[in-house]
Amino acid sequence: MSTDALAQVPGFRHSGLAVSSKTVVERILLAAATLASLAYFLYSVWRRLAPMSAARERNLAFDRLGNRIWTVFAEVFLQTRVIRERPVAGTLHALVMWGFFAFAWVSIEHFALGFSGFGGRPESHSWYAAFAAAWAVAVLAGIVGLSFRRFVLRPKALGERPSATSAAVALLIVALMATYLADWGNVYGSHVTWKANWWAHTGALLGMLWLIPNSKHLHLVLSPVAIFFRGNVTSGMRPLRDEDDDDFGMIWFADLSQKDILDVNSCVECGRCTDNCPAHAIGGSLDPKKIVLQLQKGVLAGGDVIAGAENLVQRGEAWVSEQDLYQCLSCGACEEACPVGIEHVGLKILDLRRGLVSEGRTGSEKLAAMFTTMERSPHNAWGVSQEVRRKLLKTQRLPVLERQTEWLLWLGCGCNYDPHGQEVVSAMQRILDAAGVSWGVLASETCCGEPARRAGNEYLYLELSERVIGSLRSKGVRRIVTCDPHCLRMFDADYRQQAEYAGLGIEVVHHSELLARLMPALPVQGEAGKVTLHDPCYLARGRGVTEEPREVLRAVGADLVEMRHHAARTFCCGAGGGQLYIADDKVELPGGRVNYKRFEEAAATGAETVAVACPYCPIMLRDAAGQAGREDVRVADIAELVAERLPAATG
Ligand code: SF4
Ligand code: SF4
Repeated sequence: MSTDALAQVPGFRHSGLAVSSKTVVERILLAAATLASLAYFLYSVWRRLAPMSAARERNLAFDRLGNRIWTVFAEVFLQTRVIRERPVAGTLHALVMWGFFAFAWVSIEHFALGFSGFGGRPESHSWYAAFAAAWAVAVLAGIVGLSFRRFVLRPKALGERPSATSAAVALLIVALMATYLADWGNVYGSHVTWKANWWAHTGALLGMLWLIPNSKHLHLVLSPVAIFFRGNVTSGMRPLRDEDDDDFGMIWFADLSQKDILDVNSCVECGRCTDNCPAHAIGGSLDPKKIVLQLQKGVLAGGDVIAGAENLVQRGEAWVSEQDLYQCLSCGACEEACPVGIEHVGLKILDLRRGLVSEGRTGSEKLAAMFTTMERSPHNAWGVSQEVRRKLLKTQRLPVLERQTEWLLWLGCGCNYDPHGQEVVSAMQRILDAAGVSWGVLASETCCGEPARRAGNEYLYLELSERVIGSLRSKGVRRIVTCDPHCLRMFDADYRQQAEYAGLGIEVVHHSELLARLMPALPVQGEAGKVTLHDPCYLARGRGVTEEPREVLRAVGADLVEMRHHAARTFCCGAGGGQLYIADDKVELPGGRVNYKRFEEAAATGAETVAVACPYCPIMLRDAAGQAGREDVRVADIAELVAERLPAATG
């Protein structure tokens, strides 16, 4: 743009300076520095993302387009998740982020001025300049606050050693804002000092291009993309590639999917995932942030095998420890907390477990014992005799599903074999009969294979699911309701990866969803008292259902009190990810047990009843209540709270 043309741009005023040979040299210098910085920036981003082009798994999905765009707007532009997770630090971060948006036009003007040979200068008293000056003050407040937290308070979540690049980026941001304010306030005494200030601002801007792609600040570029491609519930396990005989789950770095590579490069190292991890909270070595950063380092270093025994990790022959992976509860709290859309659970941790088991690389005796039990007794992972279920059907006179029956009540291992689970079945029987629902159970049930798949035994899962799918098909099942959010996720997500099942077009709901629909027609009496709801992870984060169980509780007159961790931010009971079967009861970690922590939170509400909506949560919470000497706190399924308020003659 020529000097004269620039002078016509609204917001610019002519400096009156002639374009001298000195400014020509400056323009050449500016062009060289800008081109070099941009080229380096693009090369560095390309280098970080290049493995995506070779990834075997191309899992960047464009479904739910409107929802994805809205999520990016809310989480990137409005910074909703960042502020929700850490209100003070999140707000300071938002000030810096919003300042970046406000400064986009200022930066364009800044370079236009330089490339024009300094013939025009932005009108320092235009309304936009004043607006940007106000943002400069806000950004300074934000960056000073964040730096104080990072370098003085030094919270554990940010890592033991203060990051040098974070310090450098903070200094560059301060320099950018200070030089802008100096220009806006006309504080320089001569043209030379003004020019020096202009070059300092330019240097800070170009410096960012060198630092961003080689530090955690790459999240500025990648996080909107990672958030766009994140699923709307906790990530699930991908299907193995049929056409690829070598696909046994994630073993090598070459097995990382496109989204995995995007994820590991987007990490901002904030530690929110680790802060929210229940396994870490009790003193376990599992650290989801460390897993993501190890994967990042491995990708950059051209790593080979990803996971292995702890001694292999220590010897540098693997990057992620098997011991850490098998502490995971697959609860999804890490993904829910992550502000940049990283998916730790199904895509990484559970797929790595699958790789370890498929390759025979795990030495866990507990795991081997669970698989052996399930192979010998496919009806449940405890190895309990099927006679227990037969007795349940007989004593409770449960109707067996027929061709014309509308709903299959899938019981699952928890409701078939656990004594409390059987009481929940009885409650469901009363409710469904009272509501006049056409329902029945299968004469014989096999475990759906959930514990096997989550623990990494894909082969066993496929064998079990084949049996279940066969019986659903032969009985002509059209609709399934289950009290077990783990079975629910299998039927509504994992099984749908198999064409044979997907073709059946079965509708699947959780009992809280069906009960919420039925409540208006049910003649419930009395009030349930003071109740707190423990949201099951696989329902709240694994399916996104949090309102329906509350609707049911409100319908039975519950005085609902919420725990600190509730709804999508619920805290695991300790049973998920196969832990109910594989956790070592003899190992006592410094922070106690996950179920003890959860029960403490529930008891602190002063509720008389802890309502649950999964057959495994009461096993864990009742154990914790006993340990705390608080058997007076009742742990009951939402179905029980409904059934006991039905008049005696109903159902
Ligand atoms: S899924 Fe839960 S237990 Fe596993 S790493 Fe994430 S927060 Fe921790
Ligand atoms: S994975 Fe997400 S939550 Fe965890 S440290 Fe990285 S950015 Fe933060």
